[in-house]
Amino acid sequence: MRLKISSDRILGSFARRVEELSGQHLLTCYQCGNCSASCPMGFAMDVLPHQIVRLVHLGQVEKALKANTIWMCASCITCSVSCPRGVDIARILEAIRFLVLKERKVADIYGPAQTPEELLQKAPLEGLTGIFRKFSV
Ligand code: SF4
Ligand code: SF4
Repeated sequence: MRLKISSDRILGSFARRVEELSGQHLLTCYQCGNCSASCPMGFAMDVLPHQIVRLVHLGQVEKALKANTIWMCASCITCSVSCPRGVDIARILEAIRFLVLKERKVADIYGPAQTPEELLQKAPLEGLTGIFRKFSV
């Protein structure tokens, strides 16, 4: 019997939603680990970025979502430029974050309204933008 192997057969619905949102093909990743080796936040992650991709490959979504990785990620895109396969893994992590926030049905988990005025005045704009991007949908 012939079995045609395609990404549609291998990847589950969560993985396909991540692909749609990120514009990346998850199976392009061949698990070399370069992204994780270059990640400046890797020391604080309980599961490394390339391992998150693997968990999504394998349909182990709960494990991927339980990890602190998507919240520790600083969106610096060092991983993306380190990938020999051209996978924009920062966008993959961002897509997973988006799906988690959307699932919680919280429109604005952390935005200017939740930020003390003093912090808005003093904090660097890049830092604030990063926080708002990460914790809002
Ligand atoms: S660097 Fe690219 S190919 Fe290597 S593990 Fe990371 S995402 Fe996958
Ligand atoms: S974008 Fe996130 S995962 Fe990628 S290197 Fe930066 S902190 Fe690490």
